[in-house]
Amino acid sequence: MAQNQQQPIYILPENTMRTIGRDAQRNNIMAARLVAETVRTTLGPKGMDKMIVDSLGDITVTNDGVTILNEMQIEHPTAKMLVEVAKTQEAQVGDGTTTAVIIAGELLKNAERLLDQEIHPTMIVKGYRQAAEKAQEALNEMAENLTKDDKATLKKIVVTAMTGKGAESSKDKLAEIIVKAVVEVAEGNLVDMTDIKIEKKVGGGIDDSELIQGLVLDKEKVHSTMPKQVRNAKVLLLDSAIEVKNTEIDAKIQITDPSQLQGFVDQEEKILKDMVDRIIKSGANVVFCQKGIDDIAQYFLSKAGIYAARRVKKSDMEMLSRATGAGILTKLSNVSPKDLGFAGLVEEVKYGDEELTFVRECKNPKAVTLLIRGGTQHVVDEVERAVRDAVGDLIASLSVGKVVAGAGAPEIEVAKKLRKYATSLSGREQLAVQAFADAMEIVPRTLAENAGLDPIDMLTELKSEHDKGNKWAGLDVFKGKVMDAWKAGVIEPLKIKTQAVKAASEVAELILRIDDVIAGGSKSHGMPQGMPPGMGGMGGMPEY
Ligand code: ADP
Ligand code: MG
Repeated sequence: MAQNQQQPIYILPENTMRTIGRDAQRNNIMAARLVAETVRTTLGPKGMDKMIVDSLGDITVTNDGVTILNEMQIEHPTAKMLVEVAKTQEAQVGDGTTTAVIIAGELLKNAERLLDQEIHPTMIVKGYRQAAEKAQEALNEMAENLTKDDKATLKKIVVTAMTGKGAESSKDKLAEIIVKAVVEVAEGNLVDMTDIKIEKKVGGGIDDSELIQGLVLDKEKVHSTMPKQVRNAKVLLLDSAIEVKNTEIDAKIQITDPSQLQGFVDQEEKILKDMVDRIIKSGANVVFCQKGIDDIAQYFLSKAGIYAARRVKKSDMEMLSRATGAGILTKLSNVSPKDLGFAGLVEEVKYGDEELTFVRECKNPKAVTLLIRGGTQHVVDEVERAVRDAVGDLIASLSVGKVVAGAGAPEIEVAKKLRKYATSLSGREQLAVQAFADAMEIVPRTLAENAGLDPIDMLTELKSEHDKGNKWAGLDVFKGKVMDAWKAGVIEPLKIKTQAVKAASEVAELILRIDDVIAGGSKSHGMPQGMPPGMGGMGGMPEY
């Protein structure tokens, strides 16, 4: 490709674009800051929502950082790195995505100030790393212990996660069922997110949402004459078909007179009858089958008054097993009563034009379902996101066993500790640590701005309270004054904060180390990818 016949020597393809040194840094920082700026207005209980319309015209209305960034289809490579921060935060904690992204943006903004003062990026990176470590220490120091029995605090965590979201109006009801769900499936302090199924159905109001001590399946009973409800259900789980196996090889059966055909059909029917008889003998009155159920078998089952559903997803089978205590059988040959699980009630319920199977009232279920209701699809979707955040927060709180109060209190406290720490360092590192401390304050500042309060007044007041030793002094965004966030019940998992600081500082360090961006030509755009200083599809740089 390179035209190396004559002077300039190209080592890169012709349409490669390259930015070096300060230009590269400036572009990268600007792109990252743009991402942070985009989600900033959604932070906190007074944050606004965003409406994102995709290329098909589908609309998402949300307040959730990671959802916004996912739906935006960001193209700039550095901006994408910030989106990754949100995704990591979502995966690790399930909440705090906006916080992580705006701290990262602010770290980079403050780094730029230092770069302008001719401080070398490696020096900034070093200072940031030290500060990040100190910040972790400070957060751990200030956190309070939490156990599974402390239901009141668990509820506060859920309510905090939901304040200001679409689910707000029903947060007490939702808190009740979410806490119950998480405590129910917890093994010690560990909770597996996959043990809580979140199912949503449009219709009714958010208050109609419920916790099912068992499972909701997107399945109807296979035969219309089967019972609609089975009380005291003895549940059989089967992962093979209730069918006569079709031979793998194409077999030809030669018959010479019609009675032989009848014999063949009779034989098939007998095998199916045998299979169903085994089920009946085991005492099962509900069967969930991962594979198919033959029409004839369906008939026999319904004649015996057994409720059956087929082609149940593997993941649902596993959850059914954990909810009912049934084992998953691979064959029917030796089914016995002890393989069966229990559910107080199995029933088919019609929602709109869809039939669902509810497996309710399991005893000590290790898998449960939160059924989310709401007037429209958009409402249900946004409530689901809020519920997921809340479940994630509870899991994170229990797994670490520590929580903090929010409302900006931890960020101010960390900044205070960092400033104190900075005085023990030499010149340039000191500046970097101070810049990190300033960056932490973006959280309370944004909470204030989004609530229409004066950020300078609020920060000054907050800082003076923390100087007096009130570590939980936070911002009452509703009354516009400083409050004790712990007493106010604004409680969050420690992990939200530690993970946000960790991810934000790591990405900032990564971006600051880049001094050369080499972008190959994009095949689809005919324009080097990611090179424009802004981002694909977004406006220019906002005023700061
Ligand atoms: P994120 O995506 O970072 O979770 P949120 O929009 O959920 O963003 O906002 C979280 C921030 O709002 C946290 O700093 C939290 O402490 C704060 N917050 C939550 N509830 C309250 C409240 N009642 N009063 C003040 N701040 C609150
Ligand atoms: Mg949140």
